[in-house]
Amino acid sequence: MSKKSRTAPSKPAESAETAAPRHIAVVGAGIAGITCARTLMQAGHRVTVFEKSRGVGGRMATRRTEFGSFDHGAQYFTVRDERFEEALATASGLVRPWSASTVRVLDENGRVVAASLPARESHWVATPGMNALVRQWSEPLLEAGQLMLQTRVTRIEADKLHPERWQLQTEGPGTQNPVHSGFDAVVLALPSVQAHELLLDSQQASALRESLAGVTVAPCWSLMLAFPQAVQPSRTSLGPQWNVARSTHHRIAWLARESSKPGRGPIERWTVQASPAWSQRHLDDGDERVKAKLLRAFAEVTGIRAEPPHAAVHRWLYAQTVKPLGKTHAWDAQSRIGACGDWCLGHRVEDGFVSGLEMALAIL
Ligand SMILES: Cc1cc2nc3c(=O)[nH]c(=O)nc-3n(C[C@H](O)[C@H](O)[C@H](O)COP(=O)(O)OP(=O)(O)OC[C@H]3O[C@@H](n4cnc5c(N)ncnc54)[C@H](O)[C@@H]3O)c2cc1C
Repeated sequence: MSKKSRTAPSKPAESAETAAPRHIAVVGAGIAGITCARTLMQAGHRVTVFEKSRGVGGRMATRRTEFGSFDHGAQYFTVRDERFEEALATASGLVRPWSASTVRVLDENGRVVAASLPARESHWVATPGMNALVRQWSEPLLEAGQLMLQTRVTRIEADKLHPERWQLQTEGPGTQNPVHSGFDAVVLALPSVQAHELLLDSQQASALRESLAGVTVAPCWSLMLAFPQAVQPSRTSLGPQWNVARSTHHRIAWLARESSKPGRGPIERWTVQASPAWSQRHLDDGDERVKAKLLRAFAEVTGIRAEPPHAAVHRWLYAQTVKPLGKTHAWDAQSRIGACGDWCLGHRVEDGFVSGLEMALAIL
């Protein structure tokens, strides 16, 4: 089937319209899980989404502070698949271009070594924060009472009353009833390591589980800094002229001025991502130690030596795929358990979208 003739999430597959409605559990409310869930829902199936966090979005995360918000996970996304483009058109008011395509490349000392990379493709952000896109797409599930937040799935097991179906054991503050039963299929829209662990604990779908074991993922420490003494547009000369840079500093891989993104508020804020190698070496360090080291590196790279009134770090254990699965999703037709996520194809937001969509189409 050509890309063009495939279904966008807003248009259910024809065959699905005639299929008997099924009840499907989707575990994880990142872009992959919500794309999968809403595609299945639009095709007439009953879908229940379980999410361990307080909100949706997963690694498309936004942290709010008194100084403004930070996208401490994904910074932006690119759009290459026309189905993603079509789906984004349903959220056009939310998605805005960001001038990150003029990314500087810095040397170890923070000197710009490439003036700016040619803008090969547009960089897009959701407004007011990166989590807004998935939040909007999840609204029909929320309205239908089918989005269980603060509900971590701990085990997949055969339904006690209908052994041909699945039931899920859950825990967390959002859990009123720890057992959810009657699912015809289960989709794990989790980072590969967490999907693997859940299948292992549940002793289910061993072939699927084994296929996930080959995927490798790198961690990332993120640093968030706010300088309320510098406010746009009458900004005093705080730091470099550029807004976004890739860095070869041994601690830092990426820096972005959050306040340069559309719709983000005027106070100068920076998000800094440590390199995968440094993050791995300092994985178990305490927050304060990581903050101090990354702050020093930030000062070296940007020349900003002012004390930030707000500095916080976040550790992403499963930030970026190193070795992907190499196919859009994994589906065990016999057990009716599937897995999807960015790690199937790569390490980008769009990979998560395509994987979630293809997972849904496989079920349909
Ligand atoms: C620091 C960082 C920077 C990035 N920068 C970019 C970028 O600039 N551009 C780009 O395109 N991509 C970027 N990415 C990658 C991008 O964020 C991901 O590709 C995308 O968000 C993955 O979506 P997903 O749905 O596959 O997984 P996730 O977003 O990880 O969603 C998985 C969800 O499952 C939930 N969950 C886990 N276990 C359970 C359980 N047992 N029960 C219930 N729920 C559970 C999690 O809470 C989470 O919400 C970045 C990622 C990080 C961490």
